[in-house]
Amino acid sequence: MSASQPPRTADVPTLLVKIFGKDRPGITAGLFDTLAAYSVDVIDIEQVVTRGRIVLCALITSPTAEGTSEGALRATVHSWTESLNLQTEIISGTGDNRPRGSGRSHVTVLGNPLTSESTAAIAASITATGGNIDRIFRLAKYPVTAVEFAVSGVETEPLRTALATAGAQIGIDVAVVSAGLHRRAQRLVIMDVDSTLIQDEVIELFAAHAGCEAEVAEVTARAMRGELDFEQSLHARVELLAGLDASVVDKVRSEVRLTPGARTLVRTLKRLGYQVGVVSGGFTQVTDALQVQLGLDFAAANTLEIVDGKFTGRVVGEIVDRAGKARLLRRFAAEAGVPLAQTVAIGDGANDLDMLNAAGLGVAFNAKPVVREAVHTAVNVPFLDTVLYLLGITREEVEAADWEDGTLD
Ligand SMILES: [Mg+2]
Repeated sequence: MSASQPPRTADVPTLLVKIFGKDRPGITAGLFDTLAAYSVDVIDIEQVVTRGRIVLCALITSPTAEGTSEGALRATVHSWTESLNLQTEIISGTGDNRPRGSGRSHVTVLGNPLTSESTAAIAASITATGGNIDRIFRLAKYPVTAVEFAVSGVETEPLRTALATAGAQIGIDVAVVSAGLHRRAQRLVIMDVDSTLIQDEVIELFAAHAGCEAEVAEVTARAMRGELDFEQSLHARVELLAGLDASVVDKVRSEVRLTPGARTLVRTLKRLGYQVGVVSGGFTQVTDALQVQLGLDFAAANTLEIVDGKFTGRVVGEIVDRAGKARLLRRFAAEAGVPLAQTVAIGDGANDLDMLNAAGLGVAFNAKPVVREAVHTAVNVPFLDTVLYLLGITREEVEAADWEDGTLD
């Protein structure tokens, strides 16, 4: 049969057999063994087990072999399910499943907890866009409840806009990505460092050693009020570190606290063949160590100048600022041979905005409101590995991989 011919089941009589009840080994084998006596073909199977209860749906051709009938098949299946104390429903019809509408997306919902009100609001919002929910399954139960909806019949953009609004209103994280092969393709993930990959702001760690925390905080506040741009505030803050002994670099490195889930995120992405990097408005004195520690493919940041074992209060080399971060994302994507549409960027600050918007998927991670509102996808739970769920990776898969190679966190 050539691919251009319609499936041979298009107009044939078919039966939908649904089995429900207490799960135990052998149900699936038993059902198809029972059906085998009628020489029917299997068109589709869906099975799910939730808290020990199985729902098994089989779409099969109606029996046509000599000496068989639909009535006899129904009677056989019913007596088999009764013997196992299972419920069954058999519905006659024609052909295969209705074709899914054009426009397909994956909607990931993160809840901690996931409430029924939130779930209702998300589902209603999908329906309001004209979308149909084709499948729902759980990606993770810990540390958050993550559920994925496969949606068809609406383009990704309007769905994303509608769900971003709904998610913000009910205070829940919702990510919408278009379905397709690209989701499985090799990717590049680029992260911000301060308050994203790590819980700290590195300049503040240095400032603590220099005894100028208050002055640094004042410059940060001025930058936030819009009185200074990033580069001005960077120079002003670094100037305050002038004269500091270079030995504090090792101390600061040891003080850096990775964000929960950071190791799991990087380890899992590397296993999948993704390339992973960081771009930071902070300092190479710290990002270089993180690159080695986590096995990152790319790292870029500003470099504190050290002369004769002392900080000079200046930075050297190319400045990594808001525009620089987006430029580096493009450069790393080119070096990795990954199209920009296949890149994922994660960040929390205003200087991440260009990078987040340039990436195929930009994730605002526990971000300032101004960033959250300017980016389609936001994660507001404090676990970096939840980004894996946005990529369709389940907690079970992550843990199974860790188990196989004995990784312990
Ligand atoms: Mg940051």
